[in-house]
Formats: sequence, C-alpha cells, structure tokens
Amino acid sequence: MKVRQFLQHNILLISTIIAVVLGVVAGMMCRSLKPSSDTIHLVQFPGEIFLRMLKMLMLPLIVASIITGLGNVKGSSAGRMGVLSMVYYASTSVAATVVGLALVLTIKPGAYSGTSTTDIQHNNAMASAMDIILDLIRNIVPDNLVDATVKHSRTETVAHEFQKNVNSSSGGDYRTSNNISQLVTARKTVMVDGANVIGVITYSIVFGVILNQLRRRGDVVAQFFTSINIITFKMITLVMWYSPLGILFLITGQILSTSDLTDTGQTLVVYIATEMAGLAVHSLVVLPVLYTILTRKNPYVIYLKAMQALITALATSSSAATLPVTMQCVEQRMKTDTRISRFILPVGATVNMDGTAVYAAIAPMFIAQYNGISLTFGDVIIISLTAVLSSVGSAGVPGAGFAMLLLVLKAIGLPERGISFLVAVDWLMDRFRTMVNVASDCLVVGVVSHYTKLPPRDTSETQSEPPREEQEMLEIDLV
Ligand code: ASP
Repeated sequence: MKVRQFLQHNILLISTIIAVVLGVVAGMMCRSLKPSSDTIHLVQFPGEIFLRMLKMLMLPLIVASIITGLGNVKGSSAGRMGVLSMVYYASTSVAATVVGLALVLTIKPGAYSGTSTTDIQHNNAMASAMDIILDLIRNIVPDNLVDATVKHSRTETVAHEFQKNVNSSSGGDYRTSNNISQLVTARKTVMVDGANVIGVITYSIVFGVILNQLRRRGDVVAQFFTSINIITFKMITLVMWYSPLGILFLITGQILSTSDLTDTGQTLVVYIATEMAGLAVHSLVVLPVLYTILTRKNPYVIYLKAMQALITALATSSSAATLPVTMQCVEQRMKTDTRISRFILPVGATVNMDGTAVYAAIAPMFIAQYNGISLTFGDVIIISLTAVLSSVGSAGVPGAGFAMLLLVLKAIGLPERGISFLVAVDWLMDRFRTMVNVASDCLVVGVVSHYTKLPPRDTSETQSEPPREEQEMLEIDLV
C-alpha cells in the first residue's frame, strides 16, 4: 500500500529519472549507427518543443508571480526578504568564486600545455570591466519594456582601421605621401537577442510594491495578475506531464550530436575534473554547511524535494526555463509560503548563479595557465570580481556563462588561445552548472523562509490575495 502511495506521489519524478536513463542509453546505442544530421535534428525536435514550452511560460510566470507575491506582503517584510536574499546571493557567489579559484590554483588544469605565448594585455582591462558593470545597471533599468521581453543591452567595442595620410618633404623639391593606418576603438551599446529578464523583474518589483500600497484601489489589477498566475501554474502542470518525454529526447539528441570526446587529451580531462570538483564542493559541501548553520535543518532534504527541477536543469541547461518546474517543486514539495517563493525564485533564477560563478573563476584562470601567463594578486582579484559580476549579469539561458566568459577574458586582458577546449565541453559543463544554479536558488528560498515570519494572510487588507477557491486551485498537485 505504502509503495503504491509512494509511486502515485512520485510518478512524475520517477518517469523523469527513467527518461534520463533511457535518454543516455538510447543516445549511446544510436551513436554507433552514425545517424545523419537530419535524423539527429528530428530526434532533437520533441526536446526542442519542451524547451519552447518552458520558455513560453517564463515571462508571464515571472511578472505575475512577483506582482502577486509582493502584493501580499507588507512593505517591511518585502524589504527584509529583499535584503536577506541579496546578502545571501552575494555571499554564496563570493564563496563559489573562492572555491573555483582555490581549485584551479591547486590543480592547475591549464598548466599541462607547457607553452608560453602571450602576455596579459592590461590596456583595456578597467574599461571592459566597467562595461560589464554598466551593462548590468543598464539592463536593470530597461528603456523600453516591450523590447526588454526580447532583447537586452550589451556594450561592444568595435575597432576601425583609420587611414592617415602623412605628407613628408625631404629637403629637395619633391614630396612623398605615406598612408599610416591606425586602429581606433569605439564603444557602442547595442541591443542583442535574449530577454532582459533582470529589467522585467525590476519593473515587476516596483509595480508589485506600489500595487500593494494602493490597497483596495488596486484590486482589479491585483486580481488580473492573480488570475494570470493561476492560469500559468495550470499550464506548467500540463507541460510537466510532457517533461519526461522532452527530457528523454533532449538527452538523446545531445549525445548524438556531440563529437567524440574520448581522445581529447589530458588538458581537457583535468579541466573537466577541476570544474566538476568545484561544482560538487560548492553544492554538496559549502552551500549545505551554510544552510545548516543558518537554519539548523537538513539541506539534502531540499535537494531531494527539488529533484524534478534539478533534472530539468540538467536537461535544459537553462535555469530560466527551469523556473516553472522549480516553482512547482518549492511550493508543492517544500511547502514554502507562496508569498516568499514567488518573489525569491524569479529573482534568484536570474541573479543567483553559483555554478556560473564557479565556472567564471575557473575558466579565465585556465586560459591564463594554458598561455603560460603568470597573474599577479591584483589580476586574481579582478578575475574574482568579474566572475561574481558576470554570474549576476548572465541570463539563465544555455551558454550564457560562456558568452560572459568572452567578456571577462577581454576585461582581464587575457588572450582567447585555449578557448576551444572550453567550447568543446561547454554543453556538458553548462548542464551541471545550471543544476548548481537551481540547487542554490532552492536553498535561498529555504533560508529566507526560515528568517521571514509572515503574518497569516489577511484578505480584508488587500484583495490581491486570491479568494479561497483560487487559493485551492493554486495548490495543484504535481501528480
Ligand atoms: N546555463 C546557465 C543557466 O541557465 C547559465 C550559464 O551558462 O552558466 O543557469
């Protein structure tokens, strides 16, 4: 009877785990058949549809969750949650960077190449680091809300060749003309593809706080967003039933499309081991210890309850796309107060990226070691700073950490030689760092819940609280 109940309660999680195993087995077996690129494309298709469904739900979920979440808490409680979560995000990102640096400096994965080629080019370092910070602030304040749903700002440095004509007279009656070409760099802020989630979050937070202050005058708007929230959660439940199939095909497709890594050599193996060790130490030791000290509770229980989200993160490489599933796990399994989870999770999925911070600390150091560049203490500090910032600035989408790395390399003045190693394994590393990002998000909710005692819901104060039957509808079971 108990086994039956357990199976009934966990059917979705069990099917997801089976899907992962089947996906790996099917991928490995079909690889030997050497499928054509068309076939691989078709195999990837059901997984692609799964990803599209999750992404489709992301924006309405973030907007409606934050607005309704903040609409139901007092300003002082929202402020407390905000400060607490920001301090926690910052501390864990710094801890992740320290773990990454400690490992990369001890193991020295890049040192195996034994070559020394280039020097660090400090010339533009401060300017590029400043661009990363300014872009982050720019994105926090979007200039166009509609644009922010599809594009974000990024500063690019463009180099123009500038031909200068120099006339020189050489004593006699004739003149020669020389063309001297000069490289002139200019900065340009452009809009690039990918939603500016952090900008949408800022708008939603301000909107939610002001809506809360309006009390009864804001009822209509509050109810509108409550309804959107309920509808979105219902849609998430539907998508989750498709998730085992989507995950199976995502994994099979990935294994089929990956080039053979068995003879990639020592450098790559040591690099993978260093990064995996960094992610494991941070997520299985550092974060759990911090969580236990802060809450006196068992952190691994949270990981078990969030397993569905962790597997989805592994399959999709996107913490933003995983957000709907994370939300379900946190609310249904961890039974967190929705007023906390709906504010903390969307923000966390966007700015709290511990896995990315571990990577952002290890990868530039790997490149420096690979190029035989010895870094000063100051360089290491700049790497740490840009690592933390780049983890905050990265969107929760596949490969965002790698894109950020290119900016970080530029900011520090490191060459790109050796980056092909990182490209070759990014599909794999990205999956694991996304898993760590999501794991950390779930722990933040646990910590903030522990320290935030919200008063019982008072529906006479604000109508943004959903009526009873809507509240029940929100409690949609995972199974
Ligand atoms: N893919 C990661 C995420 O979505 C970001 C990264 O590339 O590090 O959390």
